[in-house]
Amino acid sequence: MEEDIKLSPEQAREIGKAYFFASDGDAEKRSAGLKLLLQAVSGNDPEAQFVISRLLLDGVLKSLETDSEEHALRLMCSAANNGCIQARAFLNAYCEQRYDKEFDERPQIVSEKGLVDFDGRPIKINRQGIFTPIDALLEFKDGKNILTLSTNILFFYGEEIAASEEFEQAVLSGIMEWQGDYEVFGGQKLTVKLQLTKDNNIFDNLIIMPLTDKIGSNVKKISDKLAPKNKKEQIINTLTNKRSFAAAGVKWSVNSRKIIFIQSKSGLFDDYEEIKAVAKHEFGHTIGLGDLYASAIDTLPGVEKGTYTELDCYAIRDKYYNLVMCDHHGPVSNNDIEMVVLAFRDNKMQLYQPSKLKGTISSALGKGN
Ligand SMILES: [Zn+2]
Repeated sequence: MEEDIKLSPEQAREIGKAYFFASDGDAEKRSAGLKLLLQAVSGNDPEAQFVISRLLLDGVLKSLETDSEEHALRLMCSAANNGCIQARAFLNAYCEQRYDKEFDERPQIVSEKGLVDFDGRPIKINRQGIFTPIDALLEFKDGKNILTLSTNILFFYGEEIAASEEFEQAVLSGIMEWQGDYEVFGGQKLTVKLQLTKDNNIFDNLIIMPLTDKIGSNVKKISDKLAPKNKKEQIINTLTNKRSFAAAGVKWSVNSRKIIFIQSKSGLFDDYEEIKAVAKHEFGHTIGLGDLYASAIDTLPGVEKGTYTELDCYAIRDKYYNLVMCDHHGPVSNNDIEMVVLAFRDNKMQLYQPSKLKGTISSALGKGN
């Protein structure tokens, strides 16, 4: 190896991979490959972080730190947060496998008359009409429970963005990720379907608005003049950190107006993976869910690992939950869907943690699903 050639992290990773995986039993080649891969890891290359993490988890490498799995997960999280799609997918599958293992053996409630809640009461949901921006209908058809969420999506542009079609596609596909087969209220099967339209309605819409830099700076100016001090700080923080957010009136209800503001870390609205993940999370707010964070943030106290068994399988390194309502955009869990059902049945937002020390947490939590 030429020691004096300076390689970029990407180059180090690619050459490292070639040496390591095609060493044909040549120990020297293999160790040169490993050295390059580790160099790329130090250079914060997400794919190299993913590769080394997999090698640690598969037992091919052993960490010099005390715990190989802990070390591997730290790298995997870093890779995922740096945009490695395979790392994100790995973490999702890893959590879901842990969950399945934990809850596979649970006794399953089979109801002949449709979905029942934890107290055995039948659940009825029929929230439809022009005053409900997101309609929800629970049906029991041919022995199957189906929850259909339908909404008309209106993209509202205060300012043109370059590739609006791709942006819209990313938002819609993020929302569609809520679809799927779940097991709720003691293992009862429930299929969630999404019906999204894009008609030109005047009202009864879910509004999606990209918050461009220009609009953001206007919002800043307005809030400078009008917002109370604590709100002002929150607004400036949200804008500076380019955090997307959902608004659902003063208080969420099935009838409240629903708007999702999306910000782009690149400023160009072309970071589609991020936009997709963010749209998925913010849609969760519009269908009645609060935020889930492992540790305290803003006015939220945080939910420590060990508080609810059904969430623990999704805890990564005791630092955060790899779930949709956490800011790491993980999968939608059975518990999340249980809470959506309760939100629409009771017309009440469902919280994972009390907000500003008020509000009660969802009764779906702590029941182990
Ligand atoms: Zn949120």
